[in-house]
Amino acid sequence: MGGGRPAHDIVVLGGGSGGYSCALRAAELGLSVVLVEKDKLGGTCLHRGCIPTKALLHAGEVADTTREAARFGVKAEFLGVDLAAVTAYQDGVVAKMYKGLTGLVASRGITVVAGTGRLTSPTTVQVGNDTYEGGHVVLATGSAPSTLPGLEIDGTHVLTSDHALRLDRVPASAVVLGGGVIGVEFASAWRSLGADVTIVEALPRLLPLEEESSSRRLERAFRKRGIGFSTGKRFARAERAGDGVRVVLEDESVLEAEVLLVAVGRRPVSEGLGYAEAGVATERGHVLVDGLCRTNLPTVSAVGDLIPTPQLAHVGFAEGILVAERVAGLPVTPIDYAGVPRVTYSEPEVASVGLTTTEARARGYEIEEVQYDLAGNGKATILRAAGAVTVLRAKDGPVLGVHLVGSRMGELAAEAQLIYNWEAFPEDVAPLLHPHPTQSEALGEAHLALAGKPLHVHGPALHPPPAHP
Ligand SMILES: Cc1cc2nc3c(=O)[nH]c(=O)nc-3n(C[C@H](O)[C@H](O)[C@H](O)COP(=O)(O)OP(=O)(O)OC[C@H]3O[C@@H](n4cnc5c(N)ncnc54)[C@H](O)[C@@H]3O)c2cc1C
Repeated sequence: MGGGRPAHDIVVLGGGSGGYSCALRAAELGLSVVLVEKDKLGGTCLHRGCIPTKALLHAGEVADTTREAARFGVKAEFLGVDLAAVTAYQDGVVAKMYKGLTGLVASRGITVVAGTGRLTSPTTVQVGNDTYEGGHVVLATGSAPSTLPGLEIDGTHVLTSDHALRLDRVPASAVVLGGGVIGVEFASAWRSLGADVTIVEALPRLLPLEEESSSRRLERAFRKRGIGFSTGKRFARAERAGDGVRVVLEDESVLEAEVLLVAVGRRPVSEGLGYAEAGVATERGHVLVDGLCRTNLPTVSAVGDLIPTPQLAHVGFAEGILVAERVAGLPVTPIDYAGVPRVTYSEPEVASVGLTTTEARARGYEIEEVQYDLAGNGKATILRAAGAVTVLRAKDGPVLGVHLVGSRMGELAAEAQLIYNWEAFPEDVAPLLHPHPTQSEALGEAHLALAGKPLHVHGPALHPPPAHP
């Protein structure tokens, strides 16, 4: 290409949430963009992650509602699940979103290159015989399911989430290895669709990164739903047994099921892509970056699941946008990862933003905490949903964390993240009205209580309202 201006402003390697958001924003800012994708634009989230799993969970919700229709006075008979039709529904949702995304990318004038790319220098990506040179290269090759040593994935009885989304039947029984977000969501969906499910989690509780009280509420709800779980015990081995799998834990206890879903995390996709040879610093496959997604090479950035930040689509979006704006010369600030809303879309949903009580204490905060039980909320009572809103604040200071458990509570994470990221005091939030009857009122009630003026709460105020000067 000679020593002149590079042919493109940005070359993005990988068209998932992180890569395509970077490409869209860069194009919007007038930069010329090449986006290299070996499979389909939209990546894991659209094709094998967020979207199809939430469609599966919604089908499960419809099954549960049908089973329970009589509790609401509605006559209906649950006749079973046609998984082929559920899959067709999921595929329809994905196809519609995919069409929208490809149209959007084309409308911004982004050059999409179909093929497997490889970083050949700090400014070039090679795809087949073609080389694309950019003033800047953005690595966004994402992640793939991990497994454990000695645990062989066969795609029929021992599955990853990719296989689990393409099954031709609801398994009669399943062991889910891993009680994190993906494991909990599949356990919830499969149970709703009729499977016997047991989760195995090595740490002492399900969703171990969430507030402990949220995990306990989820466990109580799962017990009620007949979802089994074994916590605090490690997996030892798995072997084929007849038409299914036998799973042995470290204490030699045995679980047998038709399928084993391995949901023990995801590894970055970085091997064999030329990153190390081009001089990009990596650690255990993750590309290392600073707070502005810059690698150790000035012309290379990295975003999304490839870097050691929370593996969430909206984190990928934010990182992609940040890099596009930085390369375009706009001022940018680092992302506060504690301020990222996190949702597990099981039944019940578990959501949070900010710090857990343990994290807040570890950072030296003296905290005040209110748990508002959904039993006092009209909409939750209508839905026959159980759960709670927990809010913690620094004593006489801002809200530090919001933790939500209950049906559809993930929707409240949007307001919770605004409160946390705005560093609001409960006194700022307390006068703001929440529509009645909605579950969002529970968030309002928790802030009223923390501001010293509880409304629908038994017991004394946490502390008297501050005296006005
Ligand atoms: C089952 C499941 C459920 C999930 N649910 C949620 C959820 O509800 N909410 C949420 O926020 N997140 C969820 N996630 C996580 C979310 O999907 C990821 O965080 C997100 O997809 C990461 O985006 P990314 O762009 O970094 O990587 P990816 O989406 O993995 O995209 C990387 C892209 O790069 C391409 N690629 C890789 N190597 C090359 C190469 N050499 N050349 C060209 N192209 C290449 C791949 O084909 C892929 O399209 C879920 C994930 C899973 C697995």
